[in-house]
Amino acid sequence: MRTAISPLELRRPRTLRDALRMLRDDGPLTPMAGCTDIYVGLNFGSLRDLRFLDIWGLDDLRGIAIAAGMLRIGALATHTDIIRSPLVRRRLPMLVAAAREIGAVQIQNRGTLGGNIANGSPAGDTLPVLAAADALVELRSADWTRKVPFTAFYEGYRKTVMRPDELITAIEVPRVEGTQYFRKVGTRAAQSISKVVFAGVRADHPRIALGSVAPTVVRAPRTEAALAGGAPLASAQDILQTEIAPIDDIRSTAAYRRRVASNLLADFWSTTA
Ligand SMILES: Cc1cc2nc3c(=O)[nH]c(=O)nc-3n(C[C@H](O)[C@H](O)[C@H](O)COP(=O)(O)OP(=O)(O)OC[C@H]3O[C@@H](n4cnc5c(N)ncnc54)[C@H](O)[C@@H]3O)c2cc1C
Repeated sequence: MRTAISPLELRRPRTLRDALRMLRDDGPLTPMAGCTDIYVGLNFGSLRDLRFLDIWGLDDLRGIAIAAGMLRIGALATHTDIIRSPLVRRRLPMLVAAAREIGAVQIQNRGTLGGNIANGSPAGDTLPVLAAADALVELRSADWTRKVPFTAFYEGYRKTVMRPDELITAIEVPRVEGTQYFRKVGTRAAQSISKVVFAGVRADHPRIALGSVAPTVVRAPRTEAALAGGAPLASAQDILQTEIAPIDDIRSTAAYRRRVASNLLADFWSTTA
């Protein structure tokens, strides 16, 4: 428990424009959305930042809509907003499935899609969904807006292409043709961090992405090409092993993760046949 006067500084902009100006002119500032990751970092001392920008009140970043044919989800959409959204249920059911398995209701009510992406944990449950869906991340600064393919957003373990003066403002997802699949494997059914998380789309050219098997979320293009070309499942499973690089850590072992990734590929292929 802290007993001294807090050294933390908090800025609370009223508009997105103000927020972006503060990031540009008064930075460095760490954005705070639902704070479900940030509070853990503060309490465990792993987050050393002292200056924060509270973006929770910026309602412009909250909506879920179809815009120019794309499903557009505001960065501040919570996992509960996603679960309840008829649009997401219809267009991207695998994201609803992922959101339902994040933490428990309290975390789903506060945790946001933008926070899950920016936090960059390779175990983030929405990440394989967005990779398999060919989503775009919309980044805004005071001076520009740019859209980055989700598969190019991470540069390494918890490293992204986002600049310190940018915010994630929205995620855009093109229409996904085919049957969607999501499966998370953790220690137990609820409140657990993934040992392996898998999202897939069964179509003429299948799309496959996995989390917790490498420093960043992984798309598996050679496995996809093998399945698209009619290769037997066993050879696709062999190829998948060359596209992942799991490690031993406190949650699991590399060998177990390899086995589960293989089994999930088989489950995806039989469930969506
Ligand atoms: C008990 C518990 C259980 C959890 N279970 C799961 C789980 O099962 N699966 C899972 O994937 N995660 C889980 N999490 C992690 C967390 O809840 C999610 O990652 C959540 O989506 C984070 O969103 P947030 O809004 O709370 O992010 P915050 O904590 O507010 O921020 C996280 C990071 O993202 C940055 N950030 C936030 N929003 C933006 C933005 N719009 N633009 C730029 N940067 C931004 C922040 O600066 C910070 O670095 C759990 C956390 C807890 C405490």
